[in-house]
Amino acid sequence: MVARQFLLCHHGEEFPIEYDSDDGIEVLKFQIFSLTSVVPDDQKILEEGCEVEVTEESDLKTISEKLRLVSFHDDIKGKETADSKTSERSDEELARMIQAEEDAIAMQMFQDSGASGRRMFEQRLRPCISQVLMYEDSKRKEAARKSVPIDRIEEKALVSLGKEGNLDPSKEEKDHAFLLQLLYWFKQSFSWVNSPPCENCGSETTFIGMGSPLPSETYFSCSSVELFRCQKHCSKNSTRFPRYNDPLKLLETRRGRCGEWANCFTLYCRAFNYESRFILDFTDHVWTECFSHLHGRWMHLDPCEGVYDNPLLYEKGLLPLYFPRDKHEEEVALSKLPADVGDENGETIIDERKIRIKSLPIVPMTPTKPSTVDVEFPVNRTRLLSQKQNSITGGGFQ
Ligand SMILES: [Zn+2]
Repeated sequence: MVARQFLLCHHGEEFPIEYDSDDGIEVLKFQIFSLTSVVPDDQKILEEGCEVEVTEESDLKTISEKLRLVSFHDDIKGKETADSKTSERSDEELARMIQAEEDAIAMQMFQDSGASGRRMFEQRLRPCISQVLMYEDSKRKEAARKSVPIDRIEEKALVSLGKEGNLDPSKEEKDHAFLLQLLYWFKQSFSWVNSPPCENCGSETTFIGMGSPLPSETYFSCSSVELFRCQKHCSKNSTRFPRYNDPLKLLETRRGRCGEWANCFTLYCRAFNYESRFILDFTDHVWTECFSHLHGRWMHLDPCEGVYDNPLLYEKGLLPLYFPRDKHEEEVALSKLPADVGDENGETIIDERKIRIKSLPIVPMTPTKPSTVDVEFPVNRTRLLSQKQNSITGGGFQ
C-alpha cells in the first residue's frame, strides 16, 4: 500500500485528494465524483504536464501528483459553464448522477462496514447471482416464449410504429417496439397480490403468519410461504401464498409482488434475446433493464407499473413524498397530503389509517413461525403498507 496525495484541477478549481493505491482506480473515481460531481463514466483523468490519461493500466503508485479532470461532457459540449450545464441536464443525465451518487455511497458503506458487513452484503447478493442464471436455461426460455402471443405483440408493435409514421422500421426500431408491447402485455397478464383470495370461497383474507414450504414448493425455489385466513371464516383453515423464485413456476402462477413481477418479466426479456438486467434495490423494489440498441444504452422497464425509460419514477415521483430531502420537496409533500391527519400525539385521526393490534387468531394447524401480533390494515392494503410489514416483502428474491 502506498498513501498518496494528489491535487486535482477541474474547471479552474483545485481539489486535494488523499488516496491509498491499493484501492484501485474505481475508488479514486468515486472520490473525484464526490468532490466534483462528475460521474465516474464521464471522467477523463490526465496527468498534468505530460497529458497522459490515467487508466486501469496506470500504476497509481507512481503517477504524477498533479492531475487534471476533463469530463467527456466537456469534450462534447465545448466550453459551457458548469452552471448552464446543470440547468440543461436531461432526466437521463440526472438519473446517471443519482445512480453514481448511490454507487459511491454504497461503495463507501461497503468499505466502512468491515469484514462482517462485507459478508452480509455478499450473502445478500450471492443468491441473486445464481438466481439470474435461471434466465439462461433454454427450457425456461422456451416455456416463456410459448406463453406469449407473439404474432399479436408483433402486430401491435408494427401498428405503434405506423402511428408514429414509421412504415419501414429498422430491426432496432422493431425490436424496441416489440419490447414495449411485451411489457404492456405482461402488465395485463400478471396480477399483483397483497393478500390472495381464499382458496375455498374467494373471499378476502388476512395475513396470519409464515409457514414452511412444502417439497413441491421448494422444488420451484420457494423459501417462504405466507399464510392467510379467510375473512368469512369458511371451512378453509388457511390459504397459502408461496413466494416462488423460479420464474418457470411464475409463468404458471402469474401473480405476486414486485419480486415475482420483475423476476418473471426479466425471463421474458431474455427469452426474446434482449440483453437484460434484474435490478435489485435494497429499499425493497426491483425492476428490469434492457439494453436498447435503438438508444445505444440501458433502458429502465418497470413491469409492475407498465412504465419504461422513466428511471426517475422512484426518486422524483414517490420517494420525496415520503422522505422529502429539502424544503421544496417538503412543501410539495405537504401540499399533497391532507392538512390535518394527526392528534396531539402525532397519531393519525383518520380511522381507516389506524393500525389495530388484535390478539393472535387461533389457527388450527401448525405453521412453523406464526407472527407475534396480527397487524391488520383495515382498508387499503397498498404496496407501500405491505412493504412495511417485516414478514411480507415485495422486492428481491424471497
Ligand atoms: Zn373462505
